Amino acid sequence: MGEKPLKRAGELARKEIAKLVPYVAGKPIEEVKRELGLTDVIKLASNENPLGPSPKALQAIMAAARNGHIYPDANAYELKRAIAARYGVEPAQVIIGDGSDELVSLIGQTFINPGDEGIMPWPSFQTYPLPVDLMGGVAVKVPLVNGRVDLTAMAARVSERTKLFFICNPNNPTGTMLTRREVEDVVRSLPDHVIVVFDEAYAEYVESPDYPDSLSFVREGRNVIVLRTFSKAYGLAGLRVGYGIGPAEAIDLINRPRLAFNVNLLAQAAAVAALGDAEHIAASRRCNREGKAFLYRELDRLGLGYYPSEANFIFINVGLDSGEVFRRLLRRGVIVRPGDIFGCPGWQRVTIGTRPQNERFIAALAEVLAEMKG
Ligand SMILES: *Cc1c(COP(=O)(O)O)cnc(C)c1O
Repeated sequence: MGEKPLKRAGELARKEIAKLVPYVAGKPIEEVKRELGLTDVIKLASNENPLGPSPKALQAIMAAARNGHIYPDANAYELKRAIAARYGVEPAQVIIGDGSDELVSLIGQTFINPGDEGIMPWPSFQTYPLPVDLMGGVAVKVPLVNGRVDLTAMAARVSERTKLFFICNPNNPTGTMLTRREVEDVVRSLPDHVIVVFDEAYAEYVESPDYPDSLSFVREGRNVIVLRTFSKAYGLAGLRVGYGIGPAEAIDLINRPRLAFNVNLLAQAAAVAALGDAEHIAASRRCNREGKAFLYRELDRLGLGYYPSEANFIFINVGLDSGEVFRRLLRRGVIVRPGDIFGCPGWQRVTIGTRPQNERFIAALAEVLAEMKG
């Protein structure tokens, strides 16, 4: 009698899809305004540049917009050439992504066979496990120690099945940095079936003289891929441009699953201009250095612990339920990132903003602490 029920989409999807956990993004400003009826909201949740894009990038975007009816250059010739010149590599060693998160995905699609392992610090950038799981691989998450990436423990997990080895430096969400010495010993000791992916999204903010020169591994001809982005210090998060530098052979392979027009016209033009705006980067670094010093002082005054950061954010041990602190800050128009999404329920990650933004965050946090400790 009864008709055969239609198959549910869930029965049709690849089995790997069921395991995937969508990325949790920072809450958008407009959403907070809508939901809470606020008019004045600041976002210190996604490590964006509080100074905005470089003025040169803005000009380039306006000029490029006139050609909005023309497809972008699928090979991003100008941008690759500019990046290659900057770092002293060949354009064939450069790949451009729709954000560096797309490159993490393409690297997984290129190298992970079912059962292959990707080793990663944890908590770290939430995107690393996604393509590994998607391809039927195994994401091996190695816990941080005191907020720092534990490279020795990661190296100890390397097996015959290991393909990818992610090093997030400085690490997100903790902001801590591995030194040249720590990295060199481990990278040179890894077997040659392991591809090391350095994610250096915050490199431009690093002040320590001990920051590793990861490109030196690429120059030595090792299977090392360095990822950088225009989303942070370059202030172009909304335009979505990231890049990878590695051996030409690896780059050629990663380029194959890439969709031809992954990086749009405005993004390519903006990135070329931003790369040439040393002044804006210098101003952004200065703003970050001063903001960090201010926040350290104020957090010390409030008696709160935090990890020393080489990035443009600070991971703060508030010692109270992170969801509740997050919501109370939200009501005061301040968006941060609650630690529970990183498995650290007493913590908050806050982006270093401008002086007025930092002052507003500290004032709001002090109120919330007083309220909750009541
Ligand atoms: C922000 C961030 C990125 C950059 O992402 P895009 O896709 O380039 O915007 C990459 N890695 C880490 C660790 C980050 O925090």
